[in-house]
Amino acid sequence: MIHKLLSLFLLLPTLANASLAQAIYNHKITFSGDTTFVLPDSTTAISFSMLQGQSLWLETEVETIAIQINEHLESGVSQLVLCKPTQKQIRLVAAENGRISIILQGYRASYRAITKSKVAAQLAALAYKKGDCNMPAAIDQSIWRKDLPPPKPNPIATQVQHVIIHHSATSNSITDYLMAVRNIYLYHVNNNGWDDVGYNYLISPDGVLWAGRDGQGSITDDNVKGAHFCGKNSNTMGVCLIGNYSEKPPTDTMLGTLRQLVAWKVKKENLQPLEYSFHPVGSPSGFMLPVICGHRDGHKEGVFSGCQTECPGNYTYQLLDSIRQQVVRQLKACQYAVGLAENHLQNLQITRVNSLLMLQNSPAAQWQIIDMSGKVVMTGQMKNQTSIDVSSLKGLFILNVASDKANKYYKFIN
Ligand SMILES: [Zn+2]
Repeated sequence: MIHKLLSLFLLLPTLANASLAQAIYNHKITFSGDTTFVLPDSTTAISFSMLQGQSLWLETEVETIAIQINEHLESGVSQLVLCKPTQKQIRLVAAENGRISIILQGYRASYRAITKSKVAAQLAALAYKKGDCNMPAAIDQSIWRKDLPPPKPNPIATQVQHVIIHHSATSNSITDYLMAVRNIYLYHVNNNGWDDVGYNYLISPDGVLWAGRDGQGSITDDNVKGAHFCGKNSNTMGVCLIGNYSEKPPTDTMLGTLRQLVAWKVKKENLQPLEYSFHPVGSPSGFMLPVICGHRDGHKEGVFSGCQTECPGNYTYQLLDSIRQQVVRQLKACQYAVGLAENHLQNLQITRVNSLLMLQNSPAAQWQIIDMSGKVVMTGQMKNQTSIDVSSLKGLFILNVASDKANKYYKFIN
């Protein structure tokens, strides 16, 4: 009996009852020129802690890539690099002269066969009909995160008004997506110090949808505030396409899942897929952000500074208009009134009298005037009735009146 128990214990993989310390290790590497580093067993992904200005090249079994600091984070952390489980060593090449000192973070987000079969079983059970506006089947976090440490408790709820599309910028040669999702989770929780995986959803190239940030029972739907949009995550939902879409287009299968997810979400939150609404991303004062947009829309050179990023990759970014149009078609097919969102600003009347914009019949709301580059040029408050003198403005502008639940827009030329 004791013998049997002992052999059962020995069969358990290292990640059973894992702590963060077991799932992640650190190694300091100091070298000049280049070096080969032997990876400890069970490494499935790596990243690096680096200083500002440091850069290096990394060769793995599947790719040679430039490693740089992830500029979205305050601490010097590189991007995530996924490895094949067969990867035994990596080669590092310093991009500058002299000695370089970095900390390699290794991840052991391997999984047991039973986890993989549970993923498959859940997928089969949740098979969905395409073309409707139902939520597509998603793999629960409790299934894909099995044996990894849990997220921090007390997630925060947020009312989603924008769907932000990302890519993971990880190798397109890695096809074990369960492992990829697990490693992204560890990277976000450990290196980035976030409470949970940053995204609300992830989609793999095979079209599988993975539920991201978890409501943990206290938030019963998917309106959980994530960490993915330049530190301004309120009112957003982050969807990550797994892979690097600066290198090639996302697959049709994953775009199909994305369309299904976005159409469902737009309908659920009573949004308009072709609209814009105010979002406080960027300095100094936020701007009008499309309801469906890419991560890089959070920055506009010379107009407002959010965070600069390639994300979601050029190929995805060029598809955004087509994605919006596909979402519109899908919504119309399930009788959703595109362009006619109901809101409690519906009685608001905006009229123009010479150089005055007259606003009448509205509950308390904020207003902004935005120029065509997205810059806020005037701002103020209204209650019941307000007039705005726009005689100082020249050109085409949008007045946005925003309450906590709705937005109304009025275009005018001076
Ligand atoms: Zn992104």
